[in-house]
Amino acid sequence: VTVRELAELLRVPPNVVMAELLKRGVLATINQTVPSEVALQVAEALGFLAEIKKEEEETLEEEIPDHWEKLPRPPIVVVMGHVDHGKTTLLDTIRKTNVAEREKGGITQHIGASVVQLPDGRKITFLDTPGHEAFTSLRARGAQITDIAVLVVAADDGVMPQTVEAINHARAFNVPIIVAVNKIDKPGADPQRVRRELSELGLIPEEWGGDTIFVDVSAKTGQNVETLLEYILLLAEILELKARVEGPAKGTVIESKLDKQRGPVATLIVQEGTLKVGDPVVAGTTYGKIRAMFDDKGRKLNSAGPSTPVEVLGFEELPMAGDTFIVVEDEKKARQIAEIRKQKKEQQEKLSRGLMLEDVFKKIE
Ligand code: GDP
Ligand code: MG
Repeated sequence: VTVRELAELLRVPPNVVMAELLKRGVLATINQTVPSEVALQVAEALGFLAEIKKEEEETLEEEIPDHWEKLPRPPIVVVMGHVDHGKTTLLDTIRKTNVAEREKGGITQHIGASVVQLPDGRKITFLDTPGHEAFTSLRARGAQITDIAVLVVAADDGVMPQTVEAINHARAFNVPIIVAVNKIDKPGADPQRVRRELSELGLIPEEWGGDTIFVDVSAKTGQNVETLLEYILLLAEILELKARVEGPAKGTVIESKLDKQRGPVATLIVQEGTLKVGDPVVAGTTYGKIRAMFDDKGRKLNSAGPSTPVEVLGFEELPMAGDTFIVVEDEKKARQIAEIRKQKKEQQEKLSRGLMLEDVFKKIE
């Protein structure tokens, strides 16, 4: 690779590359070829700049004081299981069981997550994302949002390949499982067989001395669905899920789309603090100011606390699902952080391109 090529590759002026080379005792003109090993060192040296920028970003992101009290928050739940075992039906039935919603006649709009409120006011947040995606894609960028996995197993079918996969995913991400033995209204249903099969996989029912909660349900008729919700809340209590309610919001982007009229629209789950209309926010490499906020039923909100999914308007560009978001002091700071992150990302891409080139040169040599 020549000095010129290396400079182009790293998107820095050639004299920067020459200076880096000089530091390593290599005096090279712009068209001279640099040994690949030295080229790599220069790339790394410029990668070191990215490290400094990381520090800058960290100082921009204010330390959130920890004097705020942590309070119990609703669990964030994902439904998993083999295809056709009833995941969608169960989620639909759960939403209809939502008494508060029925009274208000609210219509659930699709924002990727929904909140179910029990008559006594307790809430559960359900993610629409199929379990494995919630774990893998949403977690890819460091966000863990799922507290509890509901494993749906059809009582007339038993444990199937995707049931095993679901268990493995939940275990890999350390998410506790509640088993919903579904389709118990069906003539061929054998809930005991499901218990036996799952016991062999290490999910031993409480009634057999194990520590896994099993609830027999019919997603179709609604039988025992409220009991299932009770058990989810019981497990949430055992897990002592807590979050700070006060202070700047933090959380995860779970969906985003470009709306022709409204611009970038993102669904966020607040995990800490309270998100308010007007808040300056950074998510991944984009930023914005919360212009408007809606709940899962499409109602306008002014603020949203922990475990609340909200649809928000006001991002300059589309954030990505899995990006974490944070509220910062002002919009200027939000823009600065987003800019630094963007530069860093570009630099990383450049570096990985440089490394790829390095591999090519190795092959040629
Ligand atoms: P998913 O692939 O896991 O989302 O499964 P679906 O919710 O789409 O359900 C697959 C099929 O099973 C549909 O025809 C449902 O109507 C049916 N089904 C789901 N739950 C029950 C149930 O509790 N009882 C009966 N009889 N059928 C069910
Ligand atoms: Mg489905």
